[in-house]
Amino acid sequence: MSASAGTRGSDEYTMARERMVRILRDDFGVSDERVLAAMGSVPRHLFVPDAFRFQAYRNNALPISGKQTISQPLIVARMTELLEIGERSKILEIGTGTGYQTAILAELGDKIYSIERVPELASAAERRLAGYRNITVKAGDGTKGWEAYSPYDRILVTAGSPVAPEPLLAQLAEGGILVIPIGDEKGKQDLLRIRKTEKGLERESFGACTFVPLIGDHGWNE
Ligand code: SAH
Repeated sequence: MSASAGTRGSDEYTMARERMVRILRDDFGVSDERVLAAMGSVPRHLFVPDAFRFQAYRNNALPISGKQTISQPLIVARMTELLEIGERSKILEIGTGTGYQTAILAELGDKIYSIERVPELASAAERRLAGYRNITVKAGDGTKGWEAYSPYDRILVTAGSPVAPEPLLAQLAEGGILVIPIGDEKGKQDLLRIRKTEKGLERESFGACTFVPLIGDHGWNE
């Protein structure tokens, strides 16, 4: 990986990226223009393994190392839309993976804290994201959250969990939004948006999705 993300400008993939954005908008109904602009500017090809670079702007999930995957562009766009990120949002992300989704969040929010369970993935993502000054990555069990910077305006979990981890709900600010795939089978989830209001938690469901399992104290056992 030679270049790090976060450097602007056109590259040999600019047209492929613009095409991906058109497809997200016209065929899949992604309508938040800020989200589409972020998807149009982050160089996804720098986040996928070299062998898959030519597929980087297709609407596919792709394998990364350690049996993990980089999510397909559509699910990244959908989850980002559901978060309703503002310029001042402080965001916690669980499941850094390649760091692609992290970069999208960093284009939209203020400060991003991201936790990855697999140390090698966390350090590779950190290198890729070095161009962003508003991202902090650490290796660890994200189901415990990251107390030090809490509360968070937004929390995004990019792995499938049997429940909404209690520490994440506790570290969510009032008025905050948690987006998380939840399901009682490891490979099948329902995408949920949970709002923390003064009256309690409000849940909305956005349909079936498939993520690798969230493994940790408040997620799945190994
Ligand atoms: N958003 C990523 C893809 C995430 S795949 C991207 O754009 O590339 C889900 C990731 O969650 C995997 O990397 C997996 O290792 C990680 N993960 C699983 N359980 C976790 C936990 N308890 N804490 C932090 N990360 C976890």
